[in-house]
Amino acid sequence: MKAVIIPVTPFQQNCSVLWCEETNKAAVVDPGGEIERIEAAIAEQGVEVEKIMLTHGHIDHAGGAADLSEKLGVPIEGPHLEDTFLIEKLHEQGAQFGVEGGKPFTPTRWLEQGDEVAVGNLNFEVRFCPGHTPGHIIFFEPVSRIAFVGDVLFQGSIGRTDFPRGDHDTLLKSIREQLWPLGDDVTFVPGHGSASTLGHERQTNPFVREGA
Ligand SMILES: [Zn+2]
Ligand SMILES: [Zn+2]
Repeated sequence: MKAVIIPVTPFQQNCSVLWCEETNKAAVVDPGGEIERIEAAIAEQGVEVEKIMLTHGHIDHAGGAADLSEKLGVPIEGPHLEDTFLIEKLHEQGAQFGVEGGKPFTPTRWLEQGDEVAVGNLNFEVRFCPGHTPGHIIFFEPVSRIAFVGDVLFQGSIGRTDFPRGDHDTLLKSIREQLWPLGDDVTFVPGHGSASTLGHERQTNPFVREGA
């Protein structure tokens, strides 16, 4: 797998364009906005986008999904059905946070624990990780050992839980039961900030380290 990260929106959300090197087929993870910049990255890499993948329904992650889906003629996969209330209110989220776009949509495919998402010859495992939002999912590719985790876990921090239907204990449970078992060597791309490994966070992250 190869990937480039394009920080988008005033929240500097890590939109990823990832692709299968064998087939040149690609996906865009969390196109929160500034879709011209995302399209430029796609053109620069010369890859063929076949789908959009969403971790959750917040504006900085999902705000550009409807427009990009229409422009590229590709389906939207994810997040989990429990984030419907956020996607229906994308426009209001945009107005609230001063982010342009935010067109509501219905995903082509809702995802849940155990589902698989194919991109070329890559196969992503879906893990249901509620807490930051009730319908948050992450995407794990077991061959390259890379996970796209949205706002579940960050380098040195974890997702906020003070938004509607956020829950701190549920988030900690998701990290312990769905992320740690993937393995210490797994590299993850968070929704904001630098990439890290699960092992590094399990040992040093003050919010979730072992014994914390
Ligand atoms: Zn979020
Ligand atoms: Zn975010």
